[in-house]
Amino acid sequence: MNHSRKWTRDEVVSLYNKPLMDLLFEAASVHRKYHDPNKVQVSTLVSIKTGGCPEDCGYCPQAARYHTDVNAKELMGVEEVIAKGLEAKASGSSRICMGAAWRNIKDGPEFDQVLEMVRSLNKLDIEVCCTLGMITENQAHRLSEAGLYAYNHNIDSSEEYYEEIISTRGYKDRLQTIKNVRKTNITVCSGGIIGMGESIENRADMLITLASMTPHPESAPINALVPVKGTPIGEMELVTSWEMVRMVATARILLPETQVRLSAGRTNMSREGQALYFFAGANSIFAGDQLLTTPNPDINEDVKMFEALGLVPQQPFEKHAQRQTVEAENAQFHALGEKPKWSRPDHKIQRNLEAQTKRK
Ligand code: SF4
Repeated sequence: MNHSRKWTRDEVVSLYNKPLMDLLFEAASVHRKYHDPNKVQVSTLVSIKTGGCPEDCGYCPQAARYHTDVNAKELMGVEEVIAKGLEAKASGSSRICMGAAWRNIKDGPEFDQVLEMVRSLNKLDIEVCCTLGMITENQAHRLSEAGLYAYNHNIDSSEEYYEEIISTRGYKDRLQTIKNVRKTNITVCSGGIIGMGESIENRADMLITLASMTPHPESAPINALVPVKGTPIGEMELVTSWEMVRMVATARILLPETQVRLSAGRTNMSREGQALYFFAGANSIFAGDQLLTTPNPDINEDVKMFEALGLVPQQPFEKHAQRQTVEAENAQFHALGEKPKWSRPDHKIQRNLEAQTKRK
């Protein structure tokens, strides 16, 4: 399928600003062409390594430098992760996504432990996804051999606005990580966050960056910022349903075959609002009452919503075949002990510095 159309910022902004009924009709038409409109993919997110992160992402309560209620925890054990996988499966999720608050993966015992989690979960016949920060090509191959189905690495915002939010890692490194994942058969999950003070032009640029990837990411989370007290943008106003539905619809049009995922911020959205997002082309959600460290709707609420809307959960491996797990002793890719030079722009972001100082 050729989706190589080049979008300009003006075209995407005009699309985003169309009369809502026209935008919804266009997005829903694209959605129906490429997807079953009554099917929604459900994922469970598990924080396998919470807090204590060295980065300065302005939206994130897990950054060690900000004063939030998140307490740093050690890497979860393999057995506990398997139990979470069984729970996720029993509750109807087709995918489990493991998140670690790391800047990048480092070869060593912790990464070996994550590889073991991937192998174990893949044997439960559930799609396994990880979000572990920046990774090298060799590390991507090792995850792929373990049986990883998807790797999440969000671009967060447009390249221009990214610099207003994060100073400790560069946008190009994020794109490079996605390219490294693309060298394997792992699918790519990449999206961003709205409501961080960015303009509509910034939102358009973010979607254009995703739509310029060949192939498009198989999954694109659209997060609404959950402002967390103590973070630099913890006082932002909540994203409105209208902004969210426009963003989802525009994403659907630019990324016709991608699973557009409603992620953080769903607790602040009414059921009616969510119905509109599904109509506009969202076809994936996170289940469970916690998304890493921010709240998410109760699973029973989602079951009731699915019933009310006549939605059914997508089964695992409907879109792409299950990856075969290669056991550690038969692996072709091994730790190289690489020390990649991921960039650290370290420009000054005043509100990030202020949030850090408040802690002292
Ligand atoms: S978003 Fe990820 S990298 Fe950034 S501070 Fe949070 S855990 Fe760290």
